[in-house]
Amino acid sequence: MRCDGEVIIVGSGIAAMMSAYLLRKSFHVIMITKSDVFASNSFLAQGGIAAPIAEGDDWQAHTADTWKAGAAHGDETSIEMMTKHAVNMIELLDDLGVPFDREESGGYSLGLEGAHGTRRIVHVNGAETGKAVMRALWKAIKDEITLLDRTCVYRFIKNKDEIIGVETDQGSLFAPVTIVATGGCGQMYSVTSNGKEATGDGIALAYRSGAAISDVEFIQFHPTVYAGNEKEKGLLISEAVRGEGGQLITSAGERLQSLKSRDVVSREIFRQEREGHTVHLDLTGISDFERKFPALYKGLNKSDRRTLKPRVTPGAHFLNGGISVDAWGQTSLSRLYAVGEVACTGVHGANRLASNSLLEGLVFAHQAATHIQQTFQPLTAGLFVERDKAEPRSFKLPTREDLQKKMMRYVGIERHARSLWYMNNWFQPFLDTAHYNGPWPERDMFEQANMILLASLITRSAAIRTESRGGHFRADYPNSQDKFQQLIIEWQNGAHMKRQRPTIKELSR
Ligand SMILES: Cc1cc2nc3c(=O)[nH]c(=O)nc-3n(C[C@H](O)[C@H](O)[C@H](O)COP(=O)(O)OP(=O)(O)OC[C@H]3O[C@@H](n4cnc5c(N)ncnc54)[C@H](O)[C@@H]3O)c2cc1C
Repeated sequence: MRCDGEVIIVGSGIAAMMSAYLLRKSFHVIMITKSDVFASNSFLAQGGIAAPIAEGDDWQAHTADTWKAGAAHGDETSIEMMTKHAVNMIELLDDLGVPFDREESGGYSLGLEGAHGTRRIVHVNGAETGKAVMRALWKAIKDEITLLDRTCVYRFIKNKDEIIGVETDQGSLFAPVTIVATGGCGQMYSVTSNGKEATGDGIALAYRSGAAISDVEFIQFHPTVYAGNEKEKGLLISEAVRGEGGQLITSAGERLQSLKSRDVVSREIFRQEREGHTVHLDLTGISDFERKFPALYKGLNKSDRRTLKPRVTPGAHFLNGGISVDAWGQTSLSRLYAVGEVACTGVHGANRLASNSLLEGLVFAHQAATHIQQTFQPLTAGLFVERDKAEPRSFKLPTREDLQKKMMRYVGIERHARSLWYMNNWFQPFLDTAHYNGPWPERDMFEQANMILLASLITRSAAIRTESRGGHFRADYPNSQDKFQQLIIEWQNGAHMKRQRPTIKELSR
């Protein structure tokens, strides 16, 4: 079988689809995705996309909120680039037919989410933004690209320092440019809002090929993951709901601060649970909840629909770090670009501001596409080589459940030198398998090895960072948050600074 391709895109979330949309006219794009084309966190996204669109709002204010939420760890230049492009991206999606909610006046209806200084979240049907955006993007590209769905990328093919293609469970595909857009890793934790595809594959693949990764200790836990029955567990109750008046209350009747940044609210709920309380989201104050948030209402079980006080708990939601990239999405390996949640662009710092992630995916897809168009000629044809069956091998790996529970307990919302040390030792017998670079006999094993590899990197990065900042809270260094409060004050006073963000290159070798 032969299949010509000039740009390989791994993934089919928002970052992948926007890259494909922008490149489809000048290159032959092959999009590879391991499940169905719509199986992604992008499709699950609810609250919306942040953009400084309201009267009186501007990119400077959006930049300031992003940087503050990121606990003074973000890259100011990258953030500015993202916030300056935000309104253009919304207009582009609007042109593609995304039916954003509107006011009677015709202007966008703008939601408010935690740590935003003003209303700036565009959304569709209350909290169904991801679905609508993905459908519109797919409609715009589906006849002009090649899709290989249910195809899992197992390895990047490397020639010296260049990535020249990918090995999949079906065969190998060669092309001059590869974009990795495989999303995050929430499945590493026992409570998560993420879809089952989010097993950190792209970061593991890149790391095994020698790419630099950074900031992976900064995991964002979303405070309001629905803790309903087994069937509904994992449904995210969007922050937009708290923006509209949803109120967190404990089983002891105490009201909690509802619109603080996600890490602060998550820790508060975690502590309440540790003291034996449950935490509920009181939706009774939102007039007409069912009509405003139809998908969320439908997702609740019968009893919670009646009382409108569902129990919530924090769950792994977003990886702030990832494969290190420059302003054009270039990784440290030649011909390999990374966009979306898999990449560390520096915009989120230590903690992502709500609704900035879809935006980051769109803007950095645009950056990467622009760079690829300026750098590569659409000449070289790719080649598809069918795969020989991999020899069965026996690997030493723990069960997923064991890993998920341990990560939640020891490398979760609160970390400590003791818990990190324990986990670091626990990983040791599995690391040979985690570093194995294929050929993998089956997908399940491959995903488990990826999760072990990334979990071990997160643990080691968390051990090295002896401070509390954003999504990384060290119970043994609890007060170091004061340090970045000081940085924020300096920044507000105009003392702009270039911060050096540590990179954990080749960490465990
Ligand atoms: C429930 C929920 C609600 C959210 N709400 C919002 C919101 O309102 N606003 C916001 O800004 N952000 C939100 N987020 C975060 C945001 O949705 C994600 O960060 C973003 O969609 C990531 O997009 P992506 O394109 O990088 O990756 P994804 O959308 O996760 O897509 C990754 C793709 O890669 C594929 N893939 C992975 N590994 C492989 C492999 N080895 N081979 C082939 N394919 C592979 C997957 O199948 C998938 O298609 C939400 C997240 C969740 C889970």
